[in-house]
Amino acid sequence: MEAYKCKKCGYESITSKYYCPTCRSSEFEKVDVPNSGTVYSYTTIHIAPPEYVDLAPYQVVLVELTEKLKVTGFMKERVKIGDQVMFKDVKDSAYMFERVG
Ligand SMILES: [Zn+2]
Repeated sequence: MEAYKCKKCGYESITSKYYCPTCRSSEFEKVDVPNSGTVYSYTTIHIAPPEYVDLAPYQVVLVELTEKLKVTGFMKERVKIGDQVMFKDVKDSAYMFERVG
């Protein structure tokens, strides 16, 4: 998958930003980042907002893709911290992940 990297300080984000939150630079370049990463933290959602009601219960996971880049994603499967997960697709602008292996 692709991410935006600040040309000045190296800050990385999965969504495009006008200004780098670290150094205020507005120059970004697109970089390739791994499709898979490690679960950094997660929350189980039992009562979902209307747009995700058919997914519930699901996990909102914070996935560490690289040292500098963490992405918030959604998962149907139960996970725990340290699990390897892989980006699957984008559903209603949410990043869907699934467990590896
Ligand atoms: Zn920066």
